Amino acid sequence: MNQYEMNTANPEETSQFAEKIAGFLQPGDLIALEGDLGAGKTTFTKGLARGLEIKKTVNSPTFTIIKEYKGRLPLYHMDVYRVADSYEDLGFDEYFEGDGVTVVEWAHLIGEQLPGEHLAIFLYHEDEEKRKIVLMPKGKRYEQLCKEIFS
Ligand code: ADP
Ligand code: MG
Repeated sequence: MNQYEMNTANPEETSQFAEKIAGFLQPGDLIALEGDLGAGKTTFTKGLARGLEIKKTVNSPTFTIIKEYKGRLPLYHMDVYRVADSYEDLGFDEYFEGDGVTVVEWAHLIGEQLPGEHLAIFLYHEDEEKRKIVLMPKGKRYEQLCKEIFS
């Protein structure tokens, strides 16, 4: 399977990389973010929001699970860390089927509710400020997207 890597040396580089990705996104796209606490999932999402021309400050939606922002495309930002179990259905489908871009932090925690086709992004904490970002496209749409990002 194809896998793409990017290394960043500070938070701004992670934001900038996400901002670049945002330029290629289309309505209905889904990004599943994985990585330990502090790996940079929210930092990445903030950069993506900047690329989607979202003016509001994007903060971790930990206590609300889902936050919605208006931009060039709507952004649905989810942090499912506090979802009790993978069967707890909070109406995710409505977002996945919507016209926005959905970003899910800790995506594996909602198990089978996550559509099979998505862009999986893993953030690895290598050093205080160094991160390895690994993109794994799941499905044709996301393979195409990765090719565009890395061309
Ligand atoms: P998560 O959402 O994965 O828990 P956050 O984005 O909230 O992570 O926090 C990441 C923390 O790590 C922030 O304080 C950020 O400033 C810091 N950081 C340091 N280096 C990087 C980097 N290269 N990329 C992203 N964040 C970084
Ligand atoms: Mg976070």
